[in-house]
Amino acid sequence: MVTTPGSIRHEWRLCLGKPRGARYPRSTCAKIGSVVATAAVVRKGDLIQVVNPATLERVRDVRVFRDDEIRGTVDLCRDAQGEWAQRSVAERIEILRKFRDAIVDHKDEIAATIVMETGKPAHEAVAVEIFYSCNMVDYYTKIAAETLRPESRSSLNPLFKTKKLEVACLPHGVVGFITPWNFPFMFTCGDIVPALLAGNGVVIKPSEITPLSGLLVERLAAELFPRDLVRVVTGYGEAGASLVGCADYVSFTGSVSTGKKVMAKAAETLTPLSLELGGKDPLIVLSDADLHRAAAATAWGALFNAGQACISVERVYVEKSVASEFTRLLVKEVEKVRQGPDEHAPIDIGSMTSARQLGIVESHVDDAVRKGAHVEIGGRRNGRYQGYFYEPTVLTGVTHDMLIMTEETFGPVIPIMAVKDREEALAMANDSRYGLSASIFTRDTRLARSMARQIRAGAVCINDCCVNYIVPELPFGGFKESGIGFRHSPGGLTKFCRQQAMLEDRIGLRREPVWFPYTEGKASLFNRLIPLLFRSGLRRKILG
Ligand code: NAD
Repeated sequence: MVTTPGSIRHEWRLCLGKPRGARYPRSTCAKIGSVVATAAVVRKGDLIQVVNPATLERVRDVRVFRDDEIRGTVDLCRDAQGEWAQRSVAERIEILRKFRDAIVDHKDEIAATIVMETGKPAHEAVAVEIFYSCNMVDYYTKIAAETLRPESRSSLNPLFKTKKLEVACLPHGVVGFITPWNFPFMFTCGDIVPALLAGNGVVIKPSEITPLSGLLVERLAAELFPRDLVRVVTGYGEAGASLVGCADYVSFTGSVSTGKKVMAKAAETLTPLSLELGGKDPLIVLSDADLHRAAAATAWGALFNAGQACISVERVYVEKSVASEFTRLLVKEVEKVRQGPDEHAPIDIGSMTSARQLGIVESHVDDAVRKGAHVEIGGRRNGRYQGYFYEPTVLTGVTHDMLIMTEETFGPVIPIMAVKDREEALAMANDSRYGLSASIFTRDTRLARSMARQIRAGAVCINDCCVNYIVPELPFGGFKESGIGFRHSPGGLTKFCRQQAMLEDRIGLRREPVWFPYTEGKASLFNRLIPLLFRSGLRRKILG
């Protein structure tokens, strides 16, 4: 089992606060809890108080970086990056593999840190966040040499056969990562892997709710990478905005509303960026599906990480003929889900990570119930614990007039809607401003593949859900308001590069035909060349 906060064995470079292992008296915890209940985190001047959301114990204080400090950090990182970019890809690969070994060596400490600041089960910290980060190193170190190698090209046009062509991938410089709180380690550790391999430096602004995992990444990286190549700046939204203002590329993961602000800010400096935003992922169950598998998948896909995943199953559409049987099986699955703080392990789900998120979940369920939804199970806070626990919940009788079916809930709630047929299921699935992922359960996989093409989402799983995210061979990105750009796959590495084209003359004529002076002879040459080169059919090329 994973350790408690008291067993964290390192000194935080940037953290202040109560001595390690110290616990606050219950009265203080309750007070923190009530303050936090009206805000995402406790904001105290230049300090952020990090709170364990499962126990409401204050963990540590982290300082807020000022704008000038963030610019200074980016400058230091840019200096380090200059040297890093000169190193061969093979050298970078070697260091990234040592970094992966360090993650494996420190996995207990990493898991404890994640658990402490998110309230999730240690099992998920290990099996999702640590696994994913190691796998990202594994995948990208295997494809980096081939993907980043300068590529020679030969022109398809005979006129350019006299030129040597090459495309090189050059790093942007400093990549600013702005990350959310739901998977605080993998978005700071896993996501930076391709950026570093591509020769960039990275400055990370972790969520103010969960800054400790990012700081741990910085500490592990400091042992292996050139000084200042991997840096973390902590703070609120303003710190993120400062980073957008001075980074050379911005990789943003977070909500749609913040993503729009980040894009507007990046437009001021024309800084390139990618946006990985929210989702409202549908899961469709057709009447011929294996209902047991569909129910078990839905329970896991909607409830893991307490439903706080961009790819969580947030809406279920089930064909009417099997709706009541599917609901019965799903409720049975949900009844078995064990909830509590990690110290009560084995558990399946933990707490919500912030009071604000708990409030959003409550307001969505209340709105649904007020408009006629029926609570099959759950539907309220879990009062057995002091932290931000919400019971795993199944709702039926929901409609698209309810927030629970239209807005990202990001909580352990499964709303089920019975639909007439697959056409209605598709129409409902597409009736959303989001388009991150979707799932279809049916034994007719040909039909599922054809339905998948009609779903406007960046990824579709057939008889499965959510796992596509941790398979880096597949690109992951959203359609519609779920984002711009993508992570994973070879493109998830080259996005951290600018493509530089190189053209070299092979012949050395004193003068090229397109250069000055423009003579009548050259004009008539081009007039004859254009039909010859571009008209279809040999006869028409020659005879016109
Ligand atoms: P958020 O948008 O509130 O915050 C994300 C980050 O942006 C935080 O670090 C925050 O401090 C920073 N920020 C806030 N205002 C800013 C500004 N004006 N300029 C720059 N940075 C600013 O999101 P959140 O609540 O931390 O995360 C949850 C959201 O993230 C959900 O919508 C979820 O779906 C989404 N998410 C998407 C993916 C994906 O891959 N598509 C993955 C995980 C989470």
